[in-house]
Amino acid sequence: MSNSPCAICNASKAPNTCRSCDSSICKSCLEFVSDETFEFADYTEANSPIGSYCSSCYTTEIVPALETYNEILERAKEVTVFSADQGKETRLIKRSDLKFQIDECEDKDVLTMRLAYMAAKAGYNTLVDVDLVYSKVRDGSFKLSNWRGTATAANMTGRGPVTNPNRRSPSR
Ligand SMILES: [Zn+2]
Ligand SMILES: [Zn+2]
Repeated sequence: MSNSPCAICNASKAPNTCRSCDSSICKSCLEFVSDETFEFADYTEANSPIGSYCSSCYTTEIVPALETYNEILERAKEVTVFSADQGKETRLIKRSDLKFQIDECEDKDVLTMRLAYMAAKAGYNTLVDVDLVYSKVRDGSFKLSNWRGTATAANMTGRGPVTNPNRRSPSR
């Protein structure tokens, strides 16, 4: 705990430190980036922005990053996803050389969205050969559920209803 006053508002109690500029900050000038802020982004542990920021650094660093993130996320939501067993539907889609792999994810839907985010970020609108594998992992005495997945990026032009995977649904 530091004894310096808050760098933003000068309040005497400033127990937090901005992870970007190292200033002491009080509770009300603190902005927090949690693991949910950029939930689907492909940050690694090394470049992850998770932490506390002073409101000044938050405005100059995190707000623009969030704008970029949200723009990519909007496109990621539009990415068409074909699983590996949809070879019939995807045989005419030209694969790119870009393959994605994620080894750890707790949730299948989150994993799919993270793969779609990678595709959207790289400028693609389609994922083919999406292979999601579930496994139970032992971590000491804990049993954890884990999903890992691979996918190949592709670009489809003129996406029509014929190739829309959401239409092949009837569960009757
Ligand atoms: Zn303050
Ligand atoms: Zn700061």
